Amino acid sequence: MILVMSFFFILSSCSSQSPLYISRKDGMSTVSFLAMDTILTISVDNQVADKKLKNTYDEIQKFENAYSAYITDSELYKVNHNLSEKTEISDDLYNQILISQKVSKMTDGAFDITVLPLIRLWGFSDGEYKVPALNEISETLKTVGYEKIHLDEQTVLLTQGSNIDLGAVAKGYIGQKIADELQKEGSDFGILSLGGNMQLYGNKADGSNWNIAIQDPLDESSIVGIISTTDCSVITSGSYQRYFIEENIVYHHILDPKTGYPADSGLISVTIVARDGAYADALSTGLFVTGLEKGIEIWKEYKDFEAVFITVNNEIYITEGLKGRFSSESESYLFEYIYK
Ligand code: AMP
Ligand code: MG
Repeated sequence: MILVMSFFFILSSCSSQSPLYISRKDGMSTVSFLAMDTILTISVDNQVADKKLKNTYDEIQKFENAYSAYITDSELYKVNHNLSEKTEISDDLYNQILISQKVSKMTDGAFDITVLPLIRLWGFSDGEYKVPALNEISETLKTVGYEKIHLDEQTVLLTQGSNIDLGAVAKGYIGQKIADELQKEGSDFGILSLGGNMQLYGNKADGSNWNIAIQDPLDESSIVGIISTTDCSVITSGSYQRYFIEENIVYHHILDPKTGYPADSGLISVTIVARDGAYADALSTGLFVTGLEKGIEIWKEYKDFEAVFITVNNEIYITEGLKGRFSSESESYLFEYIYK
């Protein structure tokens, strides 16, 4: 009894304290915490009040509780389980679905947030990985398709047992939202890291750009290059980020909505640099699925983002707009620029 009581005492005394520690270095304040299945680190100039910086933790937690497909009282869970009628939705959910629909159209459905039933089937939702039977995949594919989402300003309706997963766009969306809010609070410069998703604004205290490393997909301890930039998002999708191996075959977490299998597009990593975080996040996943050729076509058509594509053949293709901003000392890859 005493043990149980002291356990509750410890718990309650912990929860009354802030779980966050603010570290200070080079004129910046930094908080780091676990949320959305990853490590988040937010560093800003010292003009941001500690309270505001700590509030970002609550905000991200609230965001995750609302838009995770796996939390049973989330807003998204409600949408996914209310299949016969329209569900009223918040602005944040509306915005995330809207940008997802845009990227689905841009990529001819290679990006598709209705892949959730497929993600469950492969076990990427709970870590119970398995290679599904062919007939399971073809059955599940019937529920996949972005045109099954009927969105208007306040409501959404899903048809044919469809379910939404925002895993490919949510981190980019909330990273952008928080960066915007911090700037409104008077912050001049900052760098946010949400897992591999980087959100940047302003210039460092010494006036220079931020340097963002791109991980070597084949070697966790190396990088393939550095992008020097600011006022944008730098977001990478890669097959090395989450996968399982069965009978010597690697199955990764980015699925091709047309085949129902992990995308086999010849790419192992795609980094997108764009003004908006949600757009960059969705595009990095989408272009991973389309592959290099179609990805270049899309880049030429839209012209509002830059990209670094890494292929299975150790080639790195960099779009023209990154010329002078991308540097590398890696000798393991062949580098080539793509021009318009
Ligand atoms: P990211 O790390 O942003 O590339 O997102 C990958 C996550 O998005 C996966 O773990 C799935 O939850 C989900 N996902 C997988 N394939 C797709 C796809 N083709 N379109 C949209 N979301 C996807
Ligand atoms: Mg993404």
